[in-house]
Amino acid sequence: MDIYPSGSSFPIEQLICANRFGTFFGVPQHVFDRVWGQLTRPDGNSIAYVSMEIGADPDVLHPVRDWLEQKRIKGHANPRIDGFVRKYIFGPRKIPNYSGGLGVLAGDTLKSFADMHVPVLAISLLYREGYFSQIVDSKIGQIDYATRWTPESTPTLFQLRNPEAPDQPLVLEIPFYNGQLNPTVVKAHVWMKLEIAAELDSFVPEFLIDYSLPDAPLWVTEPAYQLYNAKSVIIKANQRRMLGFAILPLLETLGCTPRTIHLNEQHGITVTLSLILQELHDTFGEAALDQIADADILAAAERVSRKIVYTIHTPVKAGHDRFSRELYSGISHGAFQRILNLLAHDEDESHEYNFTAMAMRINRAVNSVSRLHRDVTRKQFPAFADKIKAITNGVHHLTWISAQRAACFDRIPSLRAWRTDPSCFGAITGQEAAALAPMLDAAWRTDNRLLIDYANAMLKSHREQMVETWIDPPNHLSSLPEAEWFRPGVFTIGFARRFSTYKRADLIFDDICRLADILIALNRPVNFLFAGKAHPADEPGKSVLKLILDNQEELYVRSRGLGKLVFIPGYDMQIAKLMVSGVHAWLNSPKRPLEASGTSGMKAAMNGVPNISIMDGWWVEGYHGGQTGWKFGYEGPVEDADLSEAPDALLYTEDAAAFYQILPAILESFYDRPESYLECALNNLRLNIPIFNTHRMAAEYVAQYGLRLPRELEESIARFRRLYQSEEGTMP
Ligand SMILES: *Cc1c(COP(=O)(O)O)cnc(C)c1O
Repeated sequence: MDIYPSGSSFPIEQLICANRFGTFFGVPQHVFDRVWGQLTRPDGNSIAYVSMEIGADPDVLHPVRDWLEQKRIKGHANPRIDGFVRKYIFGPRKIPNYSGGLGVLAGDTLKSFADMHVPVLAISLLYREGYFSQIVDSKIGQIDYATRWTPESTPTLFQLRNPEAPDQPLVLEIPFYNGQLNPTVVKAHVWMKLEIAAELDSFVPEFLIDYSLPDAPLWVTEPAYQLYNAKSVIIKANQRRMLGFAILPLLETLGCTPRTIHLNEQHGITVTLSLILQELHDTFGEAALDQIADADILAAAERVSRKIVYTIHTPVKAGHDRFSRELYSGISHGAFQRILNLLAHDEDESHEYNFTAMAMRINRAVNSVSRLHRDVTRKQFPAFADKIKAITNGVHHLTWISAQRAACFDRIPSLRAWRTDPSCFGAITGQEAAALAPMLDAAWRTDNRLLIDYANAMLKSHREQMVETWIDPPNHLSSLPEAEWFRPGVFTIGFARRFSTYKRADLIFDDICRLADILIALNRPVNFLFAGKAHPADEPGKSVLKLILDNQEELYVRSRGLGKLVFIPGYDMQIAKLMVSGVHAWLNSPKRPLEASGTSGMKAAMNGVPNISIMDGWWVEGYHGGQTGWKFGYEGPVEDADLSEAPDALLYTEDAAAFYQILPAILESFYDRPESYLECALNNLRLNIPIFNTHRMAAEYVAQYGLRLPRELEESIARFRRLYQSEEGTMP
């Protein structure tokens, strides 16, 4: 994809940049100095964005590699530059530091900050075994194993160096309190990923803290290796502390001065313990700590809360950290416990600390991730209802629009600036839409063929693997002759996301006979492509995944070969991109109102792909009265919302029946009235790209950050805000 219409022309030597922490590759030195200068200004005019996970795989967006390809640079006489070029062209393409939507949202957000030149740095952890890699066996279901990857050979990642001894890595010293007043100092290295703007004229540095040092104790390495390691509560608690306690030492070591910390979920909330303690030290001195009153602690917390912006991402219980007071007393000290007793107490469970409640108490702004989620969050946390606001999520349009679709957009005059300004899709004229329709149709066919080729190649490799390994192929189709496999042009429904029970991946197979009868009655074939991972400790989630495997043969047989269901193992951002652009409809079947936002449906909409969705999360805002897709299932008011995930409260029968009711109309539209189906696709471009992109979302956050920005940037942010204000909408 040619993403540099305006040229960025400079010699490759200029992509090398350096400061006292190392030598980097990807932006010119003057760009590096400008950004670093902004992040270290004495007046603190920048933001630290803290997230347990960041998903930004180079295989879905990699501006530097694209630049090299566009300039046809494959090597260089200078061995140092040659090393960078080869690493960027041939290096691995995955940074498996994410589990799902939360991480991908973080990555997309940071890319938009980079594109828009907002002064932001990000902080997360580096997981040497990633989240986990997934094998799927038809008899066993999901099998997880550690992800093998090497940060050392991964492009866009750089280990920071010690300024005093540049051949040594930079070492952070991070204090932990394990029951005593004197800290245990834990050492960590720091990796920097450069999230580089499309034009190579800015970047957001992501600092990944690497605790997996050879001589580190087990209590540090166990939580450090794997994201969301849930082997024990103490591992989980330590993982959160490793994020929260690293923030201040990192900023201080690098000389970064952000005035505001944005907590993307409450995982990093322990940073507020350090900040409150710092305030108390500054006011009362070290010695007086045990004489201060509760009111002093609360006053310090009040000052700290002015530094914190907090985004809550889910109403689902598993997403919120609670730890027993007893456990925590072994991993904190008296002062921290007093702070926690005052600020992390749980209204219902007096023996627990509730870190979501703590995040609700210590901030200057709380954001939810859609309008409906705002209303649900207010209901869940009535004491904070007044300050809970909506900033509806988005996705990074340059990451998720396929190369084929991008080439179409480049040919439409009013979309000239679509790469920098995704709101321009709202201005497509009728004449342009008529010109775009056949191009979009052709691009869609190509993307569908790419997906189908991928799925068939997968079936083939599974069949071959069966001979070589003990794994039973996860898909019934691979046991059938190749003539029965996928063909392009058949209506293809995609579903891919984490396998949590509330997402109900198996909803539409609740009554397979009825589903099969619909296909037979209309005599129309349908492909169902599914993907996603269940957390290794989530047994119910793994059972749902297994059901997807178990349903395949029955659907195929009962529908007389018209319904083909397959599971694509190893879901990641690259498979996501292939799917959201290659399918004909994107299915979203959560139990309302538990899907706070959902973002995969937005990725589909970016490509013009209609959604078939429960009225939950972003879809309440993206549905536009049926112009952009279909809705089905329960849509009762939030006041009546049942947040239970108990199996008998998941409304399978009712919502599945609602899906079967609308399916014939969808199939008729696709097969018999393709022009109306294409109209729906164009509506997605026109109505949904301008809203559900991270540039618009970033603009809404920036308005809360209180930064002083150059006039030009202020103006473009104001323009995005005029276009859409998440907070304005009321829910039906
Ligand atoms: C977008 C994305 C998700 C999030 O999907 P939801 O619909 O929000 O659940 C999860 N995993 C990957 C790899 C993604 O790209």
